Amino acid sequence: MFNKLYLFGILFFSLTLLNCQTSTNNKEPKITFKVSKKDKDWKEELSPEEYQILRNKGTERPNTGIYNMHFEEGVYACKGCGQALFKSNNKFMSDCGWPSYESALPGAITYIKDTSLGMVRTEIVCSNCGGHQGHVFDDGPTSTGKRYCVNSASINFINNKNE
Ligand SMILES: [Zn+2]
Repeated sequence: MFNKLYLFGILFFSLTLLNCQTSTNNKEPKITFKVSKKDKDWKEELSPEEYQILRNKGTERPNTGIYNMHFEEGVYACKGCGQALFKSNNKFMSDCGWPSYESALPGAITYIKDTSLGMVRTEIVCSNCGGHQGHVFDDGPTSTGKRYCVNSASINFINNKNE
C-alpha cells in the first residue's frame, strides 16, 4: 500500500512538472511597444494603404512605392510613430522592387520570426510602435550581407540637408 502511494506520488509529481513545461513552451513571447494605440485610432490616423501595411502586415506591390528608387541624403522614419529607422547611406539599389537597406539604425527595429505563407522569414517592425516594415533577408549584396526589404508606405523620408 505504501509503495503504491509512493509510486502514485512520483507519477503525479512528474505529470505536474511535464504540464508546467508544456505550458511554458507553448506561450508565445509577448512583445510590448512604447507606442500602443487602439486599432480604431490607427485607422483614423493612417491612410487605408498605410494601415494595411503597418498594422495588418500587408505588402505594397513591387516597383510602386515612392522610395523604391529614391536616393537622397537623410533618414527614413516610421510612418506610424516617427522613429528614425534607416539612414540614406545604408540604402542600396536593389532590383527587388522595394526600398532596400543593408542595415537599420541601432535599436530601431524589432525582429520577429514569421512562418506565414509556408516560409520562415524574419519580419521587421518598428521597435517603438510595432508597425510592420517588411522583412530582412541574408542575401544583401553589401558587406553586411543583409537586405532590409521595406515598404515605402510604412516610412517617411526626412531630408537632413538643413541640419
Ligand atoms: Zn513606429
